[in-house]
Amino acid sequence: MNGPEIHVEFAPELSLFVPREPRRTLVTDGVSTLGHVIESLGVPLTEVGALVVDGRTVPPSHIPGPAERVAVRPVERPQRVPGAPLRFLLDVHLGTLARRLRLLGVDTAYESTDIGDPALAARSAAEKRVMLSRDRGLLRRRELWAGAFVYSTRPDDQLQDVLDRFAPDLCPWTRCTACNGLLKEATKAEVADQLKDGTQRSYDVFAQCTDCGRAYWKGAHHDQLEAVVERALSMRTQGG
Ligand SMILES: [Zn+2]
Repeated sequence: MNGPEIHVEFAPELSLFVPREPRRTLVTDGVSTLGHVIESLGVPLTEVGALVVDGRTVPPSHIPGPAERVAVRPVERPQRVPGAPLRFLLDVHLGTLARRLRLLGVDTAYESTDIGDPALAARSAAEKRVMLSRDRGLLRRRELWAGAFVYSTRPDDQLQDVLDRFAPDLCPWTRCTACNGLLKEATKAEVADQLKDGTQRSYDVFAQCTDCGRAYWKGAHHDQLEAVVERALSMRTQGG
């Protein structure tokens, strides 16, 4: 290529994608957009905030000119996704994160089988859901309504990252962790067929999923779940 030579500097937050060369000089082809150039260096545009060229902000459609100095900033936190209520779609690898978001009352669709990138992207677009994934190829798909890279492989850190990044409204214990349906209060009689004898005797407060019918009560795993909820809520009161 013998197009313009430009200088690109990535913010430290993006170092995961450009570990060896956060700052580099490269020759572009004179027709590709800045967004394309950045993506071709391995950085998903979902993770990119402002693009600043010689002190002024430009859109990803900007075509770099000779000797331009480009600063690539990270997305601002909390990130606002205008145009629809905040809701998510998680890929097959993020099942634990999906259940935890639902536990906190965050609208979270999840595909427990691998339906493929085109189908996921189409669902994100159709339902206006923010696609969460660790798959950079998926996050490059143009059909996505919006997307975000999940930085950690640990569910605790993943949850903290998503809450910090998007600051969703939290409404714990209102959604089915199995199917994302909304819960309603239920009587013992309504859920009796799902209870073992011990449960029948020990509990009086029940909820039931309005979609799949699953019964909920403060059972064996409740302390563990309570800890997840408490941590999320305390993070919120500390302002992130
Ligand atoms: Zn359900």
